[in-house]
Amino acid sequence: MRTLADFLREARRVVVFTGAGISTESGIPDFRSPGGIWSKMQPVMFADYLTRPEARRVSWERRLAMEETWRAVKPNDGHRAVADLVRRGIVGHVITQNIDGLHQLSGVPDDKVIELHGTTRLAKCLTCGARAEVAEILAHFEKHGDAPDCKLCGGLIKTATISFGQPMPEAEMARAEAATLACDLFLVLGSSLAVYPAAGFPLAARRNGARLVIVNREETPQDRIANLVINAEIGPIMTAAVQAL
Ligand code: NAD
Repeated sequence: MRTLADFLREARRVVVFTGAGISTESGIPDFRSPGGIWSKMQPVMFADYLTRPEARRVSWERRLAMEETWRAVKPNDGHRAVADLVRRGIVGHVITQNIDGLHQLSGVPDDKVIELHGTTRLAKCLTCGARAEVAEILAHFEKHGDAPDCKLCGGLIKTATISFGQPMPEAEMARAEAATLACDLFLVLGSSLAVYPAAGFPLAARRNGARLVIVNREETPQDRIANLVINAEIGPIMTAAVQAL
């Protein structure tokens, strides 16, 4: 933890990169831990969402089941420590794989958060990109058993998340790449670093000469190239590191 605080003090530009692990302390299960989401259900593939009404129904059913959680969930100490680092100007960007919007709720300004896998708090038309309110879609789904089509163009509406098999968002990927290549410290918080292309960013930062720090409960495939690995809970470690600055 002291080494992490030293690294934060010495760095000029820090990027924080978060995965599902930063949100488990808020009560949201991650994907790959024992008991994680993938041990309970299969993901809906993007191609199925486009072609199979049943896949869309399953997808909205799951979104509906999560609605109460998304409304209730709050940022935790890990999110707050990151927000503190952003406020102090130490962290320039937060690249996140999470779709839960908790970085923004913890006070990180929108323009500092790069959501690689989108957000579950919005819905979008897959044809024209128009935004739709999730609450309206859910109300329609509960009444009719399916999601409505886009009011503007009739296209399919989907939560604004990136599903397996769906192209990555170009603008976010470009911003994440620029931030990664401009940083001298890349701090991974709570990611198994198993999902590509997102997991390519810490590799790129390291190759570009930045220090790489990984805070994660378990080992990751990139521990070997990291300058520091902390296998511990994110909230307590990050709170202590920020206090030690
Ligand atoms: P992952 O589930 O593959 O890995 C999470 C890692 O975090 C695990 O290695 C686990 O050991 C570690 N971890 C869990 N809780 C921790 C804690 N309190 N302290 C330290 N480490 C902890 O998640 P990933 O790498 O983000 O990739 C999975 C995909 O899951 C992402 O693309 C993301 O879009 C999606 N996802 C998002 C959410 C969310 O938005 N909260 C939740 C589940 C999955």
